[in-house]
Amino acid sequence: MNVFVYPGSFDPVTNGHLDIIKRVLPICDKLIVAVLNNSDKVSAFSVNERVMMLKQVLESEPKIEVDSFDKLLVDYMRLHEATTVVRGLRAVSDFENEFMFALLNKNQYPEMETIFMLTNQKYLYLSSRMVKELAMYGGNIDEYVPAIVKEALARRYSA
Ligand code: ADP
Repeated sequence: MNVFVYPGSFDPVTNGHLDIIKRVLPICDKLIVAVLNNSDKVSAFSVNERVMMLKQVLESEPKIEVDSFDKLLVDYMRLHEATTVVRGLRAVSDFENEFMFALLNKNQYPEMETIFMLTNQKYLYLSSRMVKELAMYGGNIDEYVPAIVKEALARRYSA
């Protein structure tokens, strides 16, 4: 069984993430979307809120499990007998970091692979950060996030 892990902050999930998920599903048996619990990073939503939003938007897909983790990615993968990490690549700026992490991980866990899905052109400049900034200043984010995320952002930034 081919278990893939798609790790990230997902703060919050965007249509760019969902596009990667939709495209990777046909090539795996099970996909774990894993929210990284990184206490160094200031986040807009708690890990629990991020997991709940992902669960809501992905609930109809039986191959998907949503989870969170706070250990090394390679240890998390071993625990779940996962073979492959999925990451998305947008512009050149993603490449250097992703390249470094993929090599570091491979070094720690030689049996695993990292695969990169190229962004959909529509979402080339889309990031959780951009969505949060737009939401904060009242911009239109309809084409970037699912409705429940839009509502959560509106609540977060309404005060
Ligand atoms: P991280 O904090 O790990 O970068 P993100 O939630 O920002 O987490 O992203 C998780 C993964 O999704 C990363 O591999 C990132 O490159 C990818 N990703 C994010 N937005 C997009 C997008 N618009 N198109 C393609 N991939 C994306």
